[in-house]
Amino acid sequence: MTGLLDFLRQRLWTIAFGAGLAGALLLVLGPEGVWALLLLILAAAVIFRLFVPAPRQLQSVPVPAGDEGILSPLVRRVLGQMPVPLMLLDGASRVLFVNAPMRGVVGPAVEKKPISAVLRNPEVLNAIAQTASDGEPAIAQFTLPVPIERHYEAYSARVSIIPPVTVLLLHDLTAIRRSEQMRADFVANASHELRTPLAAVSGFIDTLRGHAKDDEVARDQFLEIMGTQTARMSRLIEDLLSLTRIELNEHVPPHGRVLLENVVREAAAALEPLTRADRITIAITARSGLPAIIGDRDELAQLFQNLIHNAIKYGREGGHVWITLDRSADGEHVSVAVKDDGEGIPAIAVPRLTERVYRVDVKRSREKGGTGLGLAIVKHIVSRHGGRLAIDSKPGEGSTFTVILPVPTEENSQKSLAPAPVTEVL
Ligand code: ADP
Repeated sequence: MTGLLDFLRQRLWTIAFGAGLAGALLLVLGPEGVWALLLLILAAAVIFRLFVPAPRQLQSVPVPAGDEGILSPLVRRVLGQMPVPLMLLDGASRVLFVNAPMRGVVGPAVEKKPISAVLRNPEVLNAIAQTASDGEPAIAQFTLPVPIERHYEAYSARVSIIPPVTVLLLHDLTAIRRSEQMRADFVANASHELRTPLAAVSGFIDTLRGHAKDDEVARDQFLEIMGTQTARMSRLIEDLLSLTRIELNEHVPPHGRVLLENVVREAAAALEPLTRADRITIAITARSGLPAIIGDRDELAQLFQNLIHNAIKYGREGGHVWITLDRSADGEHVSVAVKDDGEGIPAIAVPRLTERVYRVDVKRSREKGGTGLGLAIVKHIVSRHGGRLAIDSKPGEGSTFTVILPVPTEENSQKSLAPAPVTEVL
């Protein structure tokens, strides 16, 4: 009621003027004329509203002096919690506010500094200047080369208040750029990997057709090498196909129930001829009563075969491989650790191991029949199963690859751990 009274009081003169004008028109034009005029005004208003765009207007907001006035504590808190880098600039392009992710990009203590002293990239500065002058949003891409190369897309827009504020948002493109680069490198590397054995095979075919045609010893020797090279090509193609298949399915959660201990034992048994050749002993230790996990049995078999095969390939001749299956103290995860006493891996190489065709020692990997795709396959299978891969290694002291997989929620209720894991040597 008070609201209605206030409304009438504020518009008293307008209402009085309207009523007077309506009375005068009624006298001059008669009732039909008034109706016709009203309809005409209504039609004109509708046409105007539909076809004439509203002008962009700066909304005058009473703002006390100082940036504290523009940014209330609530606004500061909300912007501060945004996970993307964000900066606000005043009408003179000085920094009004930066949130924590933006501070990570531009550094500390940038408030009140001109933007040109904070971000020196000409494309971004142009985008900001353009937005500040015409009020239109602008986009610019830029790269920060140090400390680690990072790529960003900057988006600037003006908030239409007086005094005007420009918002600068950054979109981190580093991961996208890196994966584009990795894909390009991968195609180049995979073609190179295939081209080398292919060139060797076609070279030997020419030799066998030419001067070695009647040389029986050379022929046997060349056929042997050709056999090795074609086997290498088919392993590579098989791994490439596996990787593509797993990647395609990565977003589809697996649904089978798998007892990891069985899968691990089968994988180790399948590799027995190799362990025998290198006189390597495999010891499996499993906590009893481990729960089944949700997984794809074939993929998990491939995962553990790859890890155990690597432990054999890069292990010590006459050495050991220890496989330990356990459950985390909170009962929520099952872990399988594959440990060897081989040459180990330099710390700098560890983060790159799961990249496609990355190898620490290319020659050794090739000698051992490696394709450089084994750990990339492992990474994708682990990720599809909602798990995690931990790599722990010291040069000269061996390596441990641990796969940590989630236990289904219904199994989680039985959190008590069975005691005394049993070790069994294969
Ligand atoms: P590869 O087919 O070459 O073995 P992977 O993707 O399985 O390819 O492994 C990538 C690289 O990681 C290997 O070339 C090797 O240099 C290193 N690596 C993997 N497992 C081990 C291990 N257990 N010990 C030492 N180095 C390893």
